[in-house]
Amino acid sequence: MKKYVDVILPLPLSNLYTYSLAEEMQEDVDVGFRVVVPFGKKKYYTAIVAKVHYDKPQEYEVKEVSEVLDNHPIILADQLELWRWIASYYLCTLGDVYKAAIPSGLKIESETVIVYNKEFEASSPLSDKEQKVLDILENDNELCINLLEKYSGIKNILRIVNHLLDKEAVFIKEELKNNYKPKVEARVRLVDNTLDEDRLNAIFDSLSRAQKQQAMLMKFIELSQWFSDKNLQKEVSKAELIQKSGFSAAIFRELEKKNILETYFHEIGRISDSKIELSEVNTLNDFQVYAYNSIIDSFNKRDVCLLHGVTSSGKTEIYINLIHKVLQAGKQVLYLLPEIALTTQITERLKKVFGDRLGIYHSKFSDAERVEIWQKQLTEKQYDVILGVRSSIFLPFTNLGLVIIDEEHENSYKQQDPAPRYHARSAAIMLASRFQSKVLLGTATPSVESYYNALTGKYALVELNERYKDLELPHIELVDIKELARKKMMTGPFSPILIKNIREALERKEQVILFQNRRGFAPIIECSVCGWVPKCKNCDVSLTYHKNRSMLTCHYCGYTYQMPTVCPACGNVDLKNRGYGTERIEDDVEKLFPEAKVARMDLDTTRTRNSYENIISDFENGNIDILIGTQMISKGLDFDNVSIVGILNADNLLNYPDFRSYERAFQLMAQVAGRAGRKYKRGLVILQTKSAEVPVISQVINNDYQGMYNDQIEEREAFKYPPFYKLICVYVKHRNEDVTVRAAETIAGILRTGLGNRILGPDKPAVARVQNLFIRKILLKIDNRISIAKVRDYLVSVQKSIVADEAFRSVTIYYDVDPM
Ligand code: ADP
Ligand code: ZN
Ligand code: ZN
Repeated sequence: MKKYVDVILPLPLSNLYTYSLAEEMQEDVDVGFRVVVPFGKKKYYTAIVAKVHYDKPQEYEVKEVSEVLDNHPIILADQLELWRWIASYYLCTLGDVYKAAIPSGLKIESETVIVYNKEFEASSPLSDKEQKVLDILENDNELCINLLEKYSGIKNILRIVNHLLDKEAVFIKEELKNNYKPKVEARVRLVDNTLDEDRLNAIFDSLSRAQKQQAMLMKFIELSQWFSDKNLQKEVSKAELIQKSGFSAAIFRELEKKNILETYFHEIGRISDSKIELSEVNTLNDFQVYAYNSIIDSFNKRDVCLLHGVTSSGKTEIYINLIHKVLQAGKQVLYLLPEIALTTQITERLKKVFGDRLGIYHSKFSDAERVEIWQKQLTEKQYDVILGVRSSIFLPFTNLGLVIIDEEHENSYKQQDPAPRYHARSAAIMLASRFQSKVLLGTATPSVESYYNALTGKYALVELNERYKDLELPHIELVDIKELARKKMMTGPFSPILIKNIREALERKEQVILFQNRRGFAPIIECSVCGWVPKCKNCDVSLTYHKNRSMLTCHYCGYTYQMPTVCPACGNVDLKNRGYGTERIEDDVEKLFPEAKVARMDLDTTRTRNSYENIISDFENGNIDILIGTQMISKGLDFDNVSIVGILNADNLLNYPDFRSYERAFQLMAQVAGRAGRKYKRGLVILQTKSAEVPVISQVINNDYQGMYNDQIEEREAFKYPPFYKLICVYVKHRNEDVTVRAAETIAGILRTGLGNRILGPDKPAVARVQNLFIRKILLKIDNRISIAKVRDYLVSVQKSIVADEAFRSVTIYYDVDPM
């Protein structure tokens, strides 16, 4: 009987597609295997087998699977279930989930660009086809699969490329290219290490007709300092030799063939290169022991526990103790952190205790590294503890015993764009439930939803109010800058008291953190005569001025513009900066405190893997006196010498048109404040605001989480927001504004017939055009009594009927469930 597979393609398709299996493949395929299939005009997609069966589809001509790539599933059954849940809950396709879940190296397709690894040396013989592909790439350096196939004439080239990827002879091209760390280094040495000068001269003579080889050998002698100490084992990195000699690897191969030089591999280890001495788990103090025991107890009754512990109470120490216990029971742990909180600080802390049992999964890692961890998790030698960001929920687990979600309130756990717009907290709880494993949410400032779930008994709640070693929480000094501005006492964005305290801290050789939640130099540029403001031509937003690059940038589409020297509207040359971004603050600080070493940490200064870590370690080592940053500086960093934290303008946080803005402002300010005065003395936070009367400000000052929560939960109930109501946003986008509006109105109209006044809008969002697409938004507020599954089915059916209409065929419709 003919066998068929239903596969998930990396495309937003609502259905699985069926392919047939050739006779010789039938035995080798199962759910979770990768297969290569043609689809549409494209020849190559890596698809995932979701089902194997014998039912020939009737409606269409079935194509054949071109290749089977694996001999074991790379997606496990529990993972596929998680994918299905995400697709259904977040109203997207399995293809969307597939794209987000898997590193690029495991899902190459026709357009994937393959890059040659210059440092590659084969440790086992390559097949003819592999060698052929490599030779082509060595010349061209990078090519997409389609062209590779064309140039090589090899059919079903994906299999060959996958072999080469496994051997790390080639890579997938990535945006962040500079972060590849090779696992082994190819090094070069003389075949005969007892060589003396005479014999060396003889070799040189023998190469007199091969000048390039001669020159390369000369370079080797020079780089290896062969003459300096005859007893040393002389060796040179092969990449260095090739690069510095200026000749190709082919020349080197000639020297190898002649048995003069040889290559060997020096393990430098990528994942566990540090040889740290393992240390014991710290002993918990009495408060921590109490919290620890309460968590364990709570797991007898509840699957999820919320640990609400003030900053520096030792939550991380409690996690470490829990992980230790779970490992002893032979199970795995997933420890989730927001992207920017996953720093060397925390990694090293865990590495010290768990050593090689700890794997780290970060989006700034190269794709090759992520593929390596993925593959390792499918073997017996898998990591027992994964410390990772949002996307690590997709890694293969076989025996999960505990999930820790640190900083559970962080909104970056929610993926915004593209689909799947999933929340890692919800997805992780689903994942855990598949393993009957427990979930610990930890934070100093719980999300209103989680705290509500804890108070109503859905989650267990454990509170830890004592800081480790009785450290005092910082004192928060409120500064009303509205009043000061009226009296003309402000120096730019700095109040006199902030300047005074910074100066005194610098004199005492203490450090300062300044927080401003806007990057760039000035959020708005304005003509002082006619009021002209530069706007993005693709989006309805004003442009941010970046002084360093002398550019105007759109923070929505990334488009950059030259900074005009005159106003294009009236010809005036005086263009004014309005508002303060981190770059401008940095400029001002340098002028006010010329003797201080100043650094800035925001999206613009931390684009590469190491830049962020470098700033942190410079700050830790005292090479920076004043650190200016966006919310990036608020996350999980533990500095010993920070005595002053300045929040320059709390109003930026309060004035977001969003039901979560006060909650978020509280969380952010409490977290930033927590950076002040950790080890030795009480810190001081200077909180500047024009809205001193807003309750959330005094709640921050009094560290009154409960007060904030009570206010917010009351508003949420009164205005129909989560956790009392569930929100789903429907986004409608199109190039033509008219079409967008009509489509949105039609959808809202239909939805209203089914769901009545639970439908709000369509509305024009604050930014109503991005990348030339006009946007309208419809909001669904659904009370908890209504079946969400039915609402979802209804939405999908409405969408189908809309795009069936000729007029709306090209309209993009998507959903954001539980928007942040
Ligand atoms: P949190 O995660 O709640 O912010 P941490 O776990 O980072 O707190 O603890 C704050 C600091 O106190 C860290 O430097 C940590 O090493 C130290 N600390 C906390 N508890 C202990 C303990 N039981 N033994 C040793 N050091 C501890
Ligand atoms: Zn003008
Ligand atoms: Zn733009």
